[in-house]
Amino acid sequence: MGQVSKVLVVGGGIGGLCAAIALRRQGIGVDLVELKSEWTVYGVGIIQQANVVREMARLGLADDYLKAGFGFSDVGIYDGATGTRLVRIPGKSLVGDQYPANIGMSRLALHELLSRRAMELGAKVTLGMSVESLGQDAQGVDVRFTDGSAGRYDLVIGADGLFSRMRGMLFGDTYTPRFTGQAVWRYNFPRPAEIDHLAHFQGEHGNAGLVPLADDLMYMYVTSHEPDNPYMEQAELAGRMRERLAGFGGLVGKLAEQITDSRQVVYKPMEVIFVAEPWFRGRVVLIGDAVHAATPHLGQGAGMAIEDAVVLSEEIIGEGTLEERLQRFMARRFERCRFIAESSIMAGDKEMERDHSFDRIGLVKKMLEVTAQPI
Ligand SMILES: Cc1cc2nc3c(=O)[nH]c(=O)nc-3n(C[C@H](O)[C@H](O)[C@H](O)COP(=O)(O)OP(=O)(O)OC[C@H]3O[C@@H](n4cnc5c(N)ncnc54)[C@H](O)[C@@H]3O)c2cc1C
Repeated sequence: MGQVSKVLVVGGGIGGLCAAIALRRQGIGVDLVELKSEWTVYGVGIIQQANVVREMARLGLADDYLKAGFGFSDVGIYDGATGTRLVRIPGKSLVGDQYPANIGMSRLALHELLSRRAMELGAKVTLGMSVESLGQDAQGVDVRFTDGSAGRYDLVIGADGLFSRMRGMLFGDTYTPRFTGQAVWRYNFPRPAEIDHLAHFQGEHGNAGLVPLADDLMYMYVTSHEPDNPYMEQAELAGRMRERLAGFGGLVGKLAEQITDSRQVVYKPMEVIFVAEPWFRGRVVLIGDAVHAATPHLGQGAGMAIEDAVVLSEEIIGEGTLEERLQRFMARRFERCRFIAESSIMAGDKEMERDHSFDRIGLVKKMLEVTAQPI
C-alpha cells in the first residue's frame, strides 16, 4: 500500500551509499545524511568477495571497482610459522569470466567510488548532519535533523554502523556492541608479485594475512587475543604489532621487521552485535553493521551490508503493504546474515581457545558456498 518515492538514508558508509545508489537506480528520491563533516574512512583495505562483485555488477559498478582495486581469484592458506602453503582454494567468479572472483581495494578508493556514484545518480548528500528525532504515522516519517531543519519521508533507512543511533531510536538500549576478546592490526606495504591472491597465515596465537589492494599496494593484518581490551598508546602501535607477529616466519616474518611507523598502524578491537528480527519498526528499517556487525574473520561484513542495500531496494518497489515488503526483505536477509555473524564469531572464539582441531578451511569453503547462493 503506497508508493515509496522519497527515502532518507542515515549514514554514508558502505551500506548507506550502496542503498542510495540502488534506490536512485530505481528512480526513488534519496536524501542521505552523514554524521562526519568530511568523508574520512579509516585506512587500509577491504576484501570484496565473489558475492559482492556480483552485486556490484548488478549496481553497474563492477568495472569501476576493478579499476580502483586489485582483482584476484584464489585464497591461499599457509602455515604461519614456516610460511609453507597448506591449501589454495580456487575462487570462482559469479558474474562471468570478465570479472575476477574477488577484489581487494583501499577503503578510501571504495568510499570515493561509492560516494561519487551516489551523487552522480542524484542522491542529495549532506555531511556533518544527523537525525535529532523521528515521529511516524501510517503515511510517513517526520524527521527533525540536527541542524534544525525537517523533512518527511516514505521510508527511513538507518545505515549508521555498529554504534547506530537509529538502532537506539527503534530498540532503546536492548542492544549494545560486545567486545569479543580479540583485536586486529593492519599495516600497508608495497605489493610483491607473489601476493596476487589473498594469503592467510595460521599462527599459534592469531592469524595474519596479506591482501592485494592495487598493483603497488597490499596490506597485512594480524589478529590477537586482547582479553581486557587494553588502551593502546598510538606511539607504541608499531612495536606492539611486531610483538603480535613474533611467531610468524616466511614472508610475514620478514615484513614484520618493516613495521616501524606507529602512525600507519590501524588497530581495532573486534566488537559485534546481532539484532533479532524484524529490523524495522513501521517505516524505519536498519541495515548493515547497525543490525549485524560481525568480526572480520570471514571478510563478509561489508558484503552483507551491500547485499542488504540491494535486496531492500528491490523489495520496497514490490507488491503489498510496506510491512509486507519489509517482511520479504527480512526473509531474504536474516538467516544469511546470521550465518555470517555466528560463523565469524565462532572462528574468533576458536582462535582464542587455540583449538587446533577447528576446521577453518572447511568453514571458509562453507561460507563461499552459502554466499554464492543468489540473494
Ligand atoms: C578490522 C575490520 C576489517 C574488516 N574487513 C572487511 C572485509 O575485508 N570485507 C568486508 O566485507 N567487511 C569487512 N569488515 C566489515 C565492514 O567494515 C563493515 O561490515 C561495514 O563497514 C559495514 O558497513 P555499514 O555501512 O553498515 O557501516 P559503516 O561502514 O560503519 O558506516 C556507518 C556510517 O554511518 C555514519 N554514522 C554513524 N552514526 C551516524 C549518525 N548518528 N548519523 C549519521 N551518520 C552516522 C558513520 O560516520 C559511517 O560513515 C571489516 C571490519 C573490521 C572492523
